[in-house]
Amino acid sequence: MKVLVATGRKQGARPSDIMDGIEGELVYLVDPCPTSRRFPYGPCDCGITFRGCFSEGVTTTAMVRDIDDVTLADYAAALDTTHNARVNGGCTCGFDARAHARRLLAIAAPLRDGIVVERCVDRVRVRR
Ligand SMILES: [Zn+2]
Repeated sequence: MKVLVATGRKQGARPSDIMDGIEGELVYLVDPCPTSRRFPYGPCDCGITFRGCFSEGVTTTAMVRDIDDVTLADYAAALDTTHNARVNGGCTCGFDARAHARRLLAIAAPLRDGIVVERCVDRVRVRR
């Protein structure tokens, strides 16, 4: 199953590039704040970054990796654990980890293993 993982590859193509996650960790997308939605390359990078499931570090580049052992349930469990840890005992009822995992898998599915992608708000595209 193809998933998105943090990568330092193709970093430096944009001045806004950042990679402080762990190479190879699963990543997810946070909903951009209003500021980043209006100005993706502005003061807040939440609309152009992927967030690491383990480190919670961010990266502007992610790689498609075809990992046999990862299932939808695994991906959802990782996201659920990450999300629950972040909200630290607060409300978790609004977060659907399985739906988010499905969204990420749908992004990765048509792309070739090893392709590097970047994000701009709600779009993920191949980085040239
Ligand atoms: Zn933001």
